[in-house]
Amino acid sequence: MARRIAVLGSTGSVGENALRIAAAHPDRFEVVALCANSSAERLREQVRSHRPAAACLVAGPLEALDVDASACATFSGADGVLEALERARPDVVLNAITGAAGLPASEWTLRHGRTLALANKESFVAAGEYLMQLAAETGATVLPVDSEHCAIFQCLQGEDRGRIRRIFLTASGGPFRQRPLDSFGAITPAEALEHPTWSMGPRITIGSATMMNKAFEVLEARWLFDLAPEQIEILIHPQSIVHSMVEFVDGSILAQLGVPDMRVPILYCLGWPERVPFPGFQGFDPLRFRELQFHTLDVDRYPAVPLAFDALRMGGDSGAVLNAADEVATGMFLEGGIDFPAITEIVAATLRAHRPAAVRSLDDVHRADRAARQTAERLAADRPRVRSART
Ligand code: MG
Repeated sequence: MARRIAVLGSTGSVGENALRIAAAHPDRFEVVALCANSSAERLREQVRSHRPAAACLVAGPLEALDVDASACATFSGADGVLEALERARPDVVLNAITGAAGLPASEWTLRHGRTLALANKESFVAAGEYLMQLAAETGATVLPVDSEHCAIFQCLQGEDRGRIRRIFLTASGGPFRQRPLDSFGAITPAEALEHPTWSMGPRITIGSATMMNKAFEVLEARWLFDLAPEQIEILIHPQSIVHSMVEFVDGSILAQLGVPDMRVPILYCLGWPERVPFPGFQGFDPLRFRELQFHTLDVDRYPAVPLAFDALRMGGDSGAVLNAADEVATGMFLEGGIDFPAITEIVAATLRAHRPAAVRSLDDVHRADRAARQTAERLAADRPRVRSART
């Protein structure tokens, strides 16, 4: 029987790729729910070709969807995502919503004991400890779509997690790996939106340039794999071929390799525990990648990364603060309100100002998120404005 799949964030890059995979394997995957934020026209096309039982356009209006309500129940608003999930009852929820807005859907999936294909790392940055506890209570499975975590997950199949010595999270280094540090203040949004190896949405692409994305991945790995922060190493690997590695206590290191293509981890998560044929896969040619380089992380270049370890040390709701402050600061950079180094400076200052509290519910996370947004906005307002928007 086909696996019933909900694709949240269906008009984004991960969502579109997932739907391409589903269309290539109609016997295996049935798309039962689609959710998009605001791309009404594209969502309408997707509903027509995939015929889900439910669809949600978060930022409405629903009339823009113009679908036959007897064939597909339609919802809007943030709660509409959960209503669509209730209606469609998927086996697997691919959560590719951007930002903290994806947290309720991750929580719904785990609370209902379903499989979460996680492409919304912010859920785990903000509330990883809480979500993993919930998954343990309900027996839900979390499958990481994030390429590094998918690599680690694959390396851990059949392994005793108590035998991990450490993991190496790889990072491309983003577009500014070799840019002179004294010119970082002049980085434009357009420059920061050009990623050398991966093609992704704007938030995560800016996060790859500041490397806040890697900071988030440290928190994600800490909770997904129950690692101590000291067990997480970051390596700059410009080719993005080794997606990550696990070092075990016996001296063996396992790595997962492949070309940088998000369809590979998406397919792995949708098919897990089976390996499903990749449509049109041409084979990997190691000779095309004779030189795989690894460099240590330069924290002067990437000051965002140590913030992950600060947040872990602070504990409680500090991850939610890290994420919320970065959402605000990234948005302001894209609008031309602050310069590039200010993104990380504002996040760091917001985290420093935070007094951590325990997370016992999503409300606790939302409270920390709201407070951090206010702090970050205030800190940004105190800075001199830079002149240009998207140039
Ligand atoms: Mg990643």
